[in-house]
Order: sequence, then structure tokens, then C-alpha cells
Amino acid sequence: MKLSKRALSINPSSTLAIDAKAKKMKAEGVDIIGFGAGEPDFDTPKHIKEAAVEAIKEGFTKYTPASGMIELKQAVCEKFKKDNGLSYSPENIVISNGAKHSLVNTFQAICNPRDEVIIPTPCWVSYPEMVKLANGKPVLLKSTEEEGFKPTIEEFLSAVTDKTKAIVINSPGNPTGMIYTEEELRAIAKLAVERKIYIISDEIYEKLIYDGFKHISIASFDDKIKELTILINGVSKSYAMTGWRIGYTASNEKIAKIMANMQSHATSNPNSIAQKAALAALNGADDIIDTMVTEFIKRRDYMVFRINSIKGISCIKPNGAFYVMMNISKLIGKKIEGIEIKGSDVFADVLLENANVALVPGSGFGSDIHVRLSYATSFENITEGLNRIEKLLETVI
Ligand code: PMP
Ligand code: GLU
Repeated sequence: MKLSKRALSINPSSTLAIDAKAKKMKAEGVDIIGFGAGEPDFDTPKHIKEAAVEAIKEGFTKYTPASGMIELKQAVCEKFKKDNGLSYSPENIVISNGAKHSLVNTFQAICNPRDEVIIPTPCWVSYPEMVKLANGKPVLLKSTEEEGFKPTIEEFLSAVTDKTKAIVINSPGNPTGMIYTEEELRAIAKLAVERKIYIISDEIYEKLIYDGFKHISIASFDDKIKELTILINGVSKSYAMTGWRIGYTASNEKIAKIMANMQSHATSNPNSIAQKAALAALNGADDIIDTMVTEFIKRRDYMVFRINSIKGISCIKPNGAFYVMMNISKLIGKKIEGIEIKGSDVFADVLLENANVALVPGSGFGSDIHVRLSYATSFENITEGLNRIEKLLETVI
């Protein structure tokens, strides 16, 4: 029997696949260094865990409203006011099962068949697949390392057609760690307002930002762009809560309503206990963020220094998130352990097999001359992993 063509067109998530493979090898006793992880290696703070325990004890274990409990929506509104200067009310907010679910809801809510969604690349692996799932057409807009992994406004303009429905903005970005400046965001906002295009602004890494950069939400410029923007955020990265699965959107009321309707049939409410934990995260102290930022800067600086001192590989310095895009173009066509490096997938395989180092090939992000390393792992692991890479690359011919 024939299966759904749309479902068959969806690729698996390479980020999750690598992470699962590395975790499995580790569990089997292989001495693996994992640079695949897209999650902070810090524990969820104690007060957040305690709020969850308390929720269980007090019997907060039943359905909540499908789009999330009102107290959490209010806390999300407070967060947008405090951090982003944005005024929303609970009617604009939908709480979902992780920011990934928020994004899926968003594309489902706005796309009609063949609507185009512009996605600057290198991009996070899931965006194009989510657009395809919603029957839309992902339009991948390439950007180079020389451009700092950001398309220029002229490049954005040239990708716009009369079918363009939305542009995805992800700043700080995964997998590049790049950050759009206020000027760049204003230019994109102007384009969106003039051409009536939605902006999907994925701000999940907003707190993981370094070097004096300040996070600016594109929705904060004026009411016109705010009306067109669907903001994506969540507690996964900021509070080391990837497993709890709480993400949220802020959008105009109409979009929020249809996303809530869809969610009421698809999943009902996100886990009630995790919602209580997210509430504690948003209402509590931000110490974990300061700790992570201090540590991530140290690790990033070391990783960037080491990569650029190893022959055959290089990288630019990212200003946010916890990823480095390592350029392997000089290795393409060369041999490592007798295997020709045809692209990022082969390189990642060779590294895993011969050096027990896991990283994510750039192919899934839209750049086959790069691989992504996450520095959400200990300094010792970073040192050891880079030592192993250096040693293996000595054998390149
Ligand atoms: N957006 C980006 C850019 C991400 O890297 C991730 C990480 N998975 C998500 C969204 C989804 O986050 P969550 O774990 O909350 O679903
Ligand atoms: N976003 C993280 C990553 O890119 C987690 C894995 C995923 O959800 O794709 O590695």
C-alpha cells in the first residue's frame, strides 16, 4: 500500500540521530567524545526540579487548558515585557511540547500548499522538514562563512517571490552561532512589512549570547512587524530543560487561536508538571544562565583557538548559542585512513570510527564543507576531542 508522499519526503533529524548514536556507544562502553549534543550539559536548577516535585505532590497531574495554563502564559508575557520590551497578553501565547512543537504548529498554521518559506542556511536541520510537513516549500537561501553566515538584505530580497509566505530568522543561530545586528533586523522587518511576509523568529538561544552582543527581538520595532511576527522561544536552552519539553509562541491572536485549536486535537496540553517547572524557571533566579554563559565563553574561545591551530580545518568565532561550524573544505578530496573525504557525512563517519569523536555533518544544515561541534560538553572533553581530531588529521594524505 502506498504511504503518504509528504511523510516519505521527510528526512530524519541528523542532530538527534548523532546524539543518540554517541549516547548509545557511550552506554556500550566506548570511550566516545560527543560534540553532537544540542543541549546544555548543566543540570536543571534545583528550584525548578522542586517545583515539579511539588506539582506531583499536590496532585497537579490532570489536563490543563490545551494551549497551556494561564499562570504560565502570564509568566511568558512578563518575560517578553522584561527581556524584549514586548507587550503581549495570554491570548497571544501558546505553550507547546518544546519549541520544536511550537515551530511545527506555526508552519501548520500559516502554510497553504506550495507557499514558500525562506530559510537562510546553514540552518537548523528541522526547519526545511517542518515546512515540507506543512505542505509548504522551503526556499534555502545560502550564506557563506565570509558573510558571517548571514545573507545580505539584497540576497533576502532576491529570494522573495509572490509566493513567499514567511522568512525564518534564528538569532543567535543554530548551527552557526551568528547574531543579526539591529540594523540587519530592521532591514528584514522593513522588507517583511512592505511585502506582507510573516517573520518566524526563533529566539530559543537569546540568553546564550556573548562578546557584548545584546539580543534584540525583531518584533519589538513597531506594531506592524509585531503583527507579522511569530516569536518562538522556550525553556530548553536557557534553563537546561531540554527533556522537560516546554516551548512557547507569541503571535497575533488569530494565529494563536488556530494553533491552540490544532494543538487541542493533536496533543492536548503540554505535560502539567513540566508547565509548573517552566513557571518556576521563568519566575525564578537566572543564576544558571550566568553560570552557563561564563563557562560557554571559556570553552568556545578554547575550541576556536584549537581548531584554527590544526592544519586542514578552520572556523570563525560565533557570538552566541553553543556551536562552532568547522570548515573542512581543505580536507575534501583527501584521504584519511584510506577513505576519501567526499563531504561532511564521510568526514563525520571517519572521525567517529577512527577517533571516537561524534559531531554533526553540515549536510543536514545546508553546507557540506562544514561540520558542527557543540561545546555544551566539559572542557576536558573538548580538549581530548580536539587532541583526537588533531592526531587523526596528521594522517591526511
Ligand atoms: N530551535 C532551534 C534553533 C534549536 O536548536 C532547537 C533545539 N532543539 C529548537 C528550536 C527546539 O527546542 P526544543 O528542545 O524546546 O524543542
Ligand atoms: N536543537 C538541538 C540540535 O540542533 C537538539 C537536537 C534537535 O532537536 O535537533 O542539536
